Amino acid sequence: MATVRATGTGDTRWVLPALVVGEFRRHPAITRSRLAATLGLSSSSATDLMGRLEAARLVAEVPLPAGTRGRPKHRLVPHPEGPVVAVVDVQRGTWRLAVGTLDGRLHETSDHRYGSASAPAVLDDVRGRLHALRERYGTRLRGIGVSVAGVVRDGRVADSSMLRWNGIDLQALGVDGVPVIVDNDATLAAIADTVREGAPGSRTTVHVTIEAGLGGGLIDRGAPVVGATGAGAEFGHLPFGDPAVRCPCGAYGCWGTELDGHALARALGEPEPDDPRRYMEQVIGRAAGDRAAQEAVERAARALARGIAGLANALDPDLVTLGGLAVPLHAASVTFDDAYRRGLMGFRRQSPPEIVPAECHRDAALRGAAHRLWDQIATPGGLSAWARTVAATP
Ligand SMILES: [Zn+2]
Repeated sequence: MATVRATGTGDTRWVLPALVVGEFRRHPAITRSRLAATLGLSSSSATDLMGRLEAARLVAEVPLPAGTRGRPKHRLVPHPEGPVVAVVDVQRGTWRLAVGTLDGRLHETSDHRYGSASAPAVLDDVRGRLHALRERYGTRLRGIGVSVAGVVRDGRVADSSMLRWNGIDLQALGVDGVPVIVDNDATLAAIADTVREGAPGSRTTVHVTIEAGLGGGLIDRGAPVVGATGAGAEFGHLPFGDPAVRCPCGAYGCWGTELDGHALARALGEPEPDDPRRYMEQVIGRAAGDRAAQEAVERAARALARGIAGLANALDPDLVTLGGLAVPLHAASVTFDDAYRRGLMGFRRQSPPEIVPAECHRDAALRGAAHRLWDQIATPGGLSAWARTVAATP
């Protein structure tokens, strides 16, 4: 049994509370008794600890509906005056904002359009909204997470052919010293899917998503693998495509050029689409009754399948998740599965990595950003800092 004593100073006093918060994050509907059993706490220790967490405005308890015999059970919820994070996802033409609570849930989600506005104008708008949240939540706002459809390197958009933003510093979205994290949308989506409730934490997951282009993420044992400068896992730019086709990234023959909206337009002999995502969605939608569209869709689906087989051969994941338009592309194709199996090394065909749609794909990047922020906040040091803020707040 763990010994609960409020000895120690500073951060060490928050080691056990951090374990409780971690358990709560993994199982947001957990009851006090279940939590005590999981952590090996006596009932009185669990009560003491819960009192401390409630006084620190981290969690609160609500009674479960009565019905069974015995003492009433309590379920944990985020404290109504507890810490929050703000998360933003910038896509082509739109951005989405939400507020996250410790249980991983998102609230107050809002969508914004920006048409042809320049990056500085869009960022001014985002900063204005973040500033309003900071005014409203005060010191309860503990972090800002920014997801962007582009290659992120050291907090900057290193390359986004989709947004046509290059070298834009997203760290500058910070308001009043609130810490900011910036990451690629596909990486964040992959995190969200790997950490969802019930998914084992030890998995190696490959995430492949199609928005205006092909994005990817690699999660190994719960942590994103992003390389030396944060710009790794750019699967869409593996040279799996036609070496004669130039990718907007500057390289030739990128995998993404085989299966995006532009590839479908080339296959169908139609003009270059202004909005490749929307165009691709339309082509997939009409494939059932249009022979040419069906063929173009099958071709793109096979390119997707072969590339995923290559990733499976190289990275040995136990799960592949699909996001964005990769989901309907996979669903619309009858040749995908065969192309996938043919691309796999023989020994892998016995039990190939499962390919599943990502569970929460619309908000996946936002959830992943919130998850990354909570990983930083819900540490002994982070909780100790929060508790000092609460103590200083009337
Ligand atoms: Zn490329």
